[in-house]
Amino acid sequence: MSNQTATQNQNPPPVRPKGVPDIANEMLEIALAKRRNTKPAGFRASEIGFPCLRYLCYTQTHWKQRAAPSSGLQGIFATGGDIETIAYRNLSKIAEKYPEFTVARQQETLSDPESGIVGHTDGVVMVENEAVAILEVKSVGYRYNSLHDVESLHSWSIAEKWLYQCQIYMHMSNMHMSNMPMSKLEWTALLLINKLNHYDTKVIWIPYNEKQANYLRNNAIAAKKYLEKNEEPEKINDITYCKGCPFEHVCLPEIQASASANITSPDVLDAWERQKELAKASLEHARVKRIVDKAVKDALPACGEPQYKQPETVTIGEDTLHFEGAKRTIQPTAGGTTFYWRRVKKES
Ligand code: SF4
Repeated sequence: MSNQTATQNQNPPPVRPKGVPDIANEMLEIALAKRRNTKPAGFRASEIGFPCLRYLCYTQTHWKQRAAPSSGLQGIFATGGDIETIAYRNLSKIAEKYPEFTVARQQETLSDPESGIVGHTDGVVMVENEAVAILEVKSVGYRYNSLHDVESLHSWSIAEKWLYQCQIYMHMSNMHMSNMPMSKLEWTALLLINKLNHYDTKVIWIPYNEKQANYLRNNAIAAKKYLEKNEEPEKINDITYCKGCPFEHVCLPEIQASASANITSPDVLDAWERQKELAKASLEHARVKRIVDKAVKDALPACGEPQYKQPETVTIGEDTLHFEGAKRTIQPTAGGTTFYWRRVKKES
């Protein structure tokens, strides 16, 4: 083999046609370009539920040292922003259908000089030109199904912060801290959007809780006093919040290093083993389901007019699966219609 041929063979094969950019990397760059680190105008309402006064102070004094989100996390944030934009568009369509309903005052600034809290509402829900609720829009990944009411928001620290953010918005609105005074608001519509399917949404109606809102506001007032005295509040030294805190490298909390942490609780160990079993089972379930679904689909006749009205059965071993034809109209105005077999539960 000549030297030239040997060198050619060592070159890695081209990973894409010449002239095509690294699209995946460029996509990530778009998300990263949205990363900003500017001095906030005050304590952000979205962060006011964080249970560490030192953290709140650092958002003002050490904002330049705030750890930037990882590229993966930044992508998740950017995806949330994109989904929320789509949600506003869809809300406008709903408003066209129900003229008395509208969402107004998007990104209206709320500001409370005494506590130093600032925020921007996602909107105000209006009925017949009367403000009835604050609107807050959030997109949720795999935890979507676990959030369904106010109580469930406490099950996830991020969702809990949303709850506090909503309370603060209602409080600030009710204390006329917005540019546009309005009547007292008793509700926030927390619109949750499933990141897997942005047409899958739910609204958690959060009632105004003045006591809770005052508690949060008083925390901000306390943090502001530390800033005015040029002092730092105590560290909370709580691994739940300190691990992952963007100021951990500045604050250096006294928390156990986790590199050699050893979980020994029998309950957790049982859960861990079971989780591993279920993870394997879930992959296996997906694999066999694909095989069965394809066989069933192949066994069923074509579904269309007029036979879709006839029930069908498919027998597998000792089991009989029952199907009925169903009709789905796509784009009612365009009149497109498809037929498909829908499985129905019946004793067999
Ligand atoms: S590392 Fe812990 S104590 Fe320090 S600011 Fe963050 S949450 Fe507070």
